[in-house]
Amino acid sequence: MTLPELKAAAQACSLKPFVGAQLADWLYAKRVRSWERMVNISKSAREALAARYEIGVHDPVGLACSSDGTKKYLFEAGQGRFIESVMIPDEDRQTLCVSSQAGCRMGCKFCMTGRQGFHGQLDAADILNQFISIEESGTLSNAVFMGMGEPLDNYDTLTRVLGILTAPWGFAWSPKRITVSTIGVLPALRRFLDEQRCHLAVSLHNPFPEERLSLMPVQKAWDIREVLSLIREYDFSGQRRVSFEYTMFEGFNDDKRHADALIRLLRGLECRVNLIRFHQIPDFPYRCASLQAMEAFRDRLNNHQILCTIRSSRGEDILAACGLLSGQQAQQS
Ligand code: SF4
Repeated sequence: MTLPELKAAAQACSLKPFVGAQLADWLYAKRVRSWERMVNISKSAREALAARYEIGVHDPVGLACSSDGTKKYLFEAGQGRFIESVMIPDEDRQTLCVSSQAGCRMGCKFCMTGRQGFHGQLDAADILNQFISIEESGTLSNAVFMGMGEPLDNYDTLTRVLGILTAPWGFAWSPKRITVSTIGVLPALRRFLDEQRCHLAVSLHNPFPEERLSLMPVQKAWDIREVLSLIREYDFSGQRRVSFEYTMFEGFNDDKRHADALIRLLRGLECRVNLIRFHQIPDFPYRCASLQAMEAFRDRLNNHQILCTIRSSRGEDILAACGLLSGQQAQQS
């Protein structure tokens, strides 16, 4: 709930609106999990609230820890659905990779979540619970909406969650700590760019529309060239940044021809390209590109004034690619 909703909830229990502000502080700043801990709210008021509402924080049902410190959490999302979050430690950072939907309807062929199909939207509580219920809740430094699902396909909920994460009465995070990733859902992307100040990451993966379409059906509805035209209408030279995710597949998108086409596509745009190692999934025709090909690709982009880095691969020993663990769990249950 937002602050106005918490105030209304207090009033619905015949309590003063300021109790709503106290609730926001306990839920989002202090992140307590029980009514008893809310000690500046009277016992009778807590009882009235508990009779009508639930706090809703629930623990993960599974955890896998990588030798590199990456942790994958598994959550139940009701109706036999499971979702995942991945906590990635990195020197002075702890980044949470968050899921926004149960499954996904975008059908990208290289993605295990896409293969699961769509099993419904997550609500704001499901998404915030990923932040609140994990061991690192108090020390998280960043969040990326790059877990299961397409965040812009759940835009109203995303807006609500980002509002709670960035409000002074909420988590009080700067929008600069949050990156939302999309494959390019054009109408919602325009709203996102108009309404939000968080960073944007776009899953690009291939600069040639017909080749991109062979792995990403979304290309048919929203051409990557239109996505880029929209992005070029906005300013990314200040606080807000845009990056492009480019998973590298051997023999599909890892050669000079693709690098040059990507350079042409992004020329003049203030951005970064992240090259991503592909975690192999079953029954998929391409393997990860070689390190040599990735380095040559990176160097070619950097030589043409497009900032490009190879993202270090994390948590391979715990199947950190999204959708693997939850898919296994759903099959077992
Ligand atoms: Fe959905 Fe993202 Fe997987 Fe594509 S890559 S199917 S948008 S979760």
